[in-house]
Amino acid sequence: QLFGEQRQNSQGIATDIESEWQPFEQQVSQFLGNHQWQASSIIEGQTQSGEHHLITAPYQRTQQVGEVKWANAEQALQAINVAEQGCQLWQQTPVSQRANYLLHLADKLEQNMPELVALCHREAGKTVLDSIDEIREAVDFLRYYPQQAIQHFSSPMQQRSFRDEAQHVSYQGRGIFVCISPWNFPLAIFIGQISAALVAGNCVVAKPAEQTSLIAARCIELLLETGIPKQVIQLILGNGALLGQTLCSDKRIAGVAFTGSTPTAQAINKQLAKRDALPVPFIAETGGQNAMIVDSTALPEQVVRDVLRSAFASAGQRCSALRVLFIQEDIAERVYSLIAGAMQELAIGNPEKLCTDVGPVIDPQAQTKLQAHISWLEKNAQLIYQVALPEDCSKGSFVAPCAYQIEDIAQLTQEHFGPILHVIKYQSNQLDRVIDQINQSGFGLTLGVHSRNESTYRHIEQRARVGNCYVNRDQVGAVVGVQPFGGQGLSGTGPKAGGPHYLYRFAKANISTTLA
Ligand code: GLU
Repeated sequence: QLFGEQRQNSQGIATDIESEWQPFEQQVSQFLGNHQWQASSIIEGQTQSGEHHLITAPYQRTQQVGEVKWANAEQALQAINVAEQGCQLWQQTPVSQRANYLLHLADKLEQNMPELVALCHREAGKTVLDSIDEIREAVDFLRYYPQQAIQHFSSPMQQRSFRDEAQHVSYQGRGIFVCISPWNFPLAIFIGQISAALVAGNCVVAKPAEQTSLIAARCIELLLETGIPKQVIQLILGNGALLGQTLCSDKRIAGVAFTGSTPTAQAINKQLAKRDALPVPFIAETGGQNAMIVDSTALPEQVVRDVLRSAFASAGQRCSALRVLFIQEDIAERVYSLIAGAMQELAIGNPEKLCTDVGPVIDPQAQTKLQAHISWLEKNAQLIYQVALPEDCSKGSFVAPCAYQIEDIAQLTQEHFGPILHVIKYQSNQLDRVIDQINQSGFGLTLGVHSRNESTYRHIEQRARVGNCYVNRDQVGAVVGVQPFGGQGLSGTGPKAGGPHYLYRFAKANISTTLA
């Protein structure tokens, strides 16, 4: 297990993945075997009919995981109709009560951890470490946003008084929020968006990625068990392009929260703009061409550990993941040989096994796209190291982690969402050029820096246009309430998820002025 050495449990106590895992292992295995899940859209608490789609495990395509019923455009509109009916009731529900449903769901996710871990393996191909982290992050969102809402939205906030008038500002939900979430964080981002929208007083129509509908539906079932009113949360499963278009072109929606690719965000933005209605908040968290800059003062062993985790953990399927490592020429060859040595130790394969570091990518389409890029690299770049895939990986969608030296970041015209690391050497007098090239990519999500020279890393932080900059550590795994997460430019609109400003984007402010 290369990625899980330093961990804290939910009480902040240092632990390791083995001791965290042991109590669960037995219970999780009860949901593996041949357990099958079923999911359908849920409108007003009722499961819906729809076209049947089979889900198979990304690491073993012959392993059926369950079946999902896909909704049609008419059902998506029906979800909006129902949400519309819930808006008034929900806005009038006290913040503390809205918060209670979500806190209750947090407890339920913890109680159902074994099943959810099994679903994370089977449907999303997540490793043990990533599955546990996934559920923990979901729980963190479910506790953080309610706490923020209680603090800021519960009672009107007094402003400075003027003459003999008293002024108060109070926050209310905006109406119906459409939440469109990705497969790479099928529970955490899914429920992160929903919980923020709900606790701020909005009704939600949620459309999770089709690849991970089972886990999303299980989460909504648990949410409904908390007794939350059935009109406030609707789940629509199915084809992203069709349903996304239907939901985002409806005049009645008051906002969209989206996490996914930059081109999809651009498509949603166009859809919203075409409506015969005023603009609404569009919260988009999208891709990155994330770099790490390593100068010659950095500690090579530490660099290698952080590069490996940033580039290959979660099979590189994080929007925060490291894609381009800039390394000062003086230490490059030494770091290359350490990277190659460490990559040799990576265990690739079945994500149900605790010892697995890198699992599969999400589906055959993703695998094909990544392989095409690797073929391009084979011809146009210099191989540093490529992991050999064990034989049983042929049963699933695996991509062998690899590192290639390229000439220029401009050779990368799109994000490659998988375990592929690009490396570029630079000379000591080229640092500003490197930062400018990173900025010119147009993306601005995460940046890693390894340097023991404070003036260097402060300079980089100041000049780089990124949302989250990590110095002398890895650059993935932002913690809710600790590292609010989100980028700029092509990487997102803000506000940052898991941060103090997020909820305000889901709310409208009303000012009341009273003559004393
Ligand atoms: N918040 C995650 C991280 O810090 C990334 C989220 C994403 O991939 O969308 O690694």
